[in-house]
Amino acid sequence: MTAELPLATAPTALRPGLLDVPAEDLRAWLAERGQPPMRANQIRRQILAGRAESFDAMSDLPKLLRAELAASFSTFSTRIEKHLKASDDTHKLVLRLHDDRMIECVLIQDDGRATGCISTQVGCGMGCVFCASGLNGVVRNLTVGEMLEQLVRLRNLTDANTTRDDRAPRLTNIVVMGMGEPLANLDSLLAALAVAGDKNGLGIGARHVTISTVGLPAKIRQLAESGKQYHLAVSLHAPNDVLRTRIVPTNDKTGIPAILAAADEFFAKTGRQVTYEYVVLGGLNDQPEHAKQLAGLLTGRKAHVNLIPWNDVEGLPYSRPQEDDLRGLVETVRKAGVSVKIRKRKGSEIDAACGQLRRTVEAELTTEAQGNRGGA
Ligand code: SF4
Repeated sequence: MTAELPLATAPTALRPGLLDVPAEDLRAWLAERGQPPMRANQIRRQILAGRAESFDAMSDLPKLLRAELAASFSTFSTRIEKHLKASDDTHKLVLRLHDDRMIECVLIQDDGRATGCISTQVGCGMGCVFCASGLNGVVRNLTVGEMLEQLVRLRNLTDANTTRDDRAPRLTNIVVMGMGEPLANLDSLLAALAVAGDKNGLGIGARHVTISTVGLPAKIRQLAESGKQYHLAVSLHAPNDVLRTRIVPTNDKTGIPAILAAADEFFAKTGRQVTYEYVVLGGLNDQPEHAKQLAGLLTGRKAHVNLIPWNDVEGLPYSRPQEDDLRGLVETVRKAGVSVKIRKRKGSEIDAACGQLRRTVEAELTTEAQGNRGGA
């Protein structure tokens, strides 16, 4: 069962979100008002820790400073447009950005972990055939602050975990698998994850962060060069170039061999095993020949395969795989010495395909707006 929860956030202001103001600019702004540099961290910390939704709530700041901050910045540049909660405790948020675009983010709570799945772009330029996010292409990259705000808002929804120091709710893991191709916005993503990893930020270290990609070889290498222990997940979805180009059209510019070579370099540099994600589309990429090809591609590689059985989605011409075909994939890949798992889909009752809920909300709002115009 899905419940739509009431919203409590204030309307979006058009002032810059504070998490998008570089620390040195904020310190300079504070210095002009005779305030010490330490105030910059004090202010950011309250937003990141979820202690203040408004400057007015920052009671440890002078009243005049709170008013000046509110006149120049907003604590959050996003607002929650829709909040759905599934019976398995998965939350899905649609956030409205300052330019009225919308994105999605998801909180998955499982086995004592609270994982935030965030978006990195408005729309997506990769065009995977089963994904609603890519239907209209990419509109723009998200800013550092917009990515951090997703994490803060999801962390504020967690119910099970608490940090030892201030008993605040806690996010334990991040997966960058929402709307957009994360490696197409890599510099801003790395900047956001640096804040997320800081003990004064969200305290989520690189080993608890998974970055997903359809496979941009040069960017995979750049990620490896960052020297951080992020976990890389490559969305493979097919075991040969012809089929992969049908499912992930950008594959025609890269091809599987170049992606695997970059992923091998990532493993060599970071020592972190690469995961290959494989959405199993009934009858399309789950037949015995596909299983053999997939096993052949990954034999000898230190890799893990996540098989994600497709769930029927209205309007899309794909179907759930048969149990026998799924079992065949698992057995063939396992026999080749590659670790493999079937991944459960959490929150499947909430428009769960990537980007689907955002489109539903946009369609609802467009219909409402047309209805309002019709009545005027
Ligand atoms: S699955 Fe990911 S990479 Fe592919 S179109 Fe959707 S958001 Fe983009």
